[in-house]
Amino acid sequence: MSFPDDLMKKIQNLKEKKRAVILAHNYQRPEVQDIADFVGDSLELSLCATQTDAKIIVFCGVNFMAETAAILNPDKKVLIPDRNALCPMAAMLPAELVKFYRKKHPDAKIVLYINSLAEAKANCDAVCTSANSVEIINRIDSETVLFGPDSNLARYAKNFTEKNVIPIPSMGFCPVHKLFNKEEILRLKKSHPDAEIMAHPECSPEVCEAVDFVGSTSKMYQEALSSEAKKFIVATEIGLLHRMKKARKDAVFIPAYEEAICVNMKLHTLEKVYLSLKQERYPVELPPKIMDQARKAVEFMLKTRENPQGKKLQ
Ligand code: SF4
Repeated sequence: MSFPDDLMKKIQNLKEKKRAVILAHNYQRPEVQDIADFVGDSLELSLCATQTDAKIIVFCGVNFMAETAAILNPDKKVLIPDRNALCPMAAMLPAELVKFYRKKHPDAKIVLYINSLAEAKANCDAVCTSANSVEIINRIDSETVLFGPDSNLARYAKNFTEKNVIPIPSMGFCPVHKLFNKEEILRLKKSHPDAEIMAHPECSPEVCEAVDFVGSTSKMYQEALSSEAKKFIVATEIGLLHRMKKARKDAVFIPAYEEAICVNMKLHTLEKVYLSLKQERYPVELPPKIMDQARKAVEFMLKTRENPQGKKLQ
């Protein structure tokens, strides 16, 4: 699909005039990725948000991502083009539930996946992404770690640490990554014996065990760039394939499931990005106390950059 040049130009002009930057998650629509100044995963976008000197950040991702950008940039205006872009997995662990688990396990520390709401983050000890979950769990000063809201990521990270990792809630999940199943992965493997198969750690343990490479979207992207393979089967939201195809024109990328689409991520359109810039809508607003408490947990994460993920499970 092509988009009117004048809409693209209008966005570019407004961006310059207002000293704005557009950040887009790897799962965004292709045209939104193409207009963005930076495309990446949650960790990369969080880092980008701390490094930009733009006055306005237009964040094309779901609510918790834009909230994280606002938490890290209290002096900047963070806009989300469609405020209905919510993450159902983040909603599975409200702050009240975090407090409940804190009381139930008084000796444990709480690590929350960045896919959690600001108020939940304000009640945890550290935040992590799928790219650095193991490092954060290992760094935190406790042998028992409560980890949420994604129980699959908790189980995946447990493979790489000696610590006792307890998922909170016990069955938190991403509805998009739940769509992948081991049988289909094995069928694809048989049909494409020359393909390298990758999966996101939000997939089930059975799917992660059946593939060649497990990693965050940024790790999968880097693997696609550095691998000698010419064919890849990718088990994550299909938006990532656009970025991979652009970077590896000599390779073939096959979605492990074509309908793995996060409808919330796809709510942002070029028109909404334009209106967001023009009318400065919709600003992310959070209570200062929540911002301050959540910032400590996010900053703990930003001090940890290394990660050993992207490995095949042993
Ligand atoms: S892909 Fe899953 S975890 Fe990511 S925003 Fe969509 S529902 Fe939430």
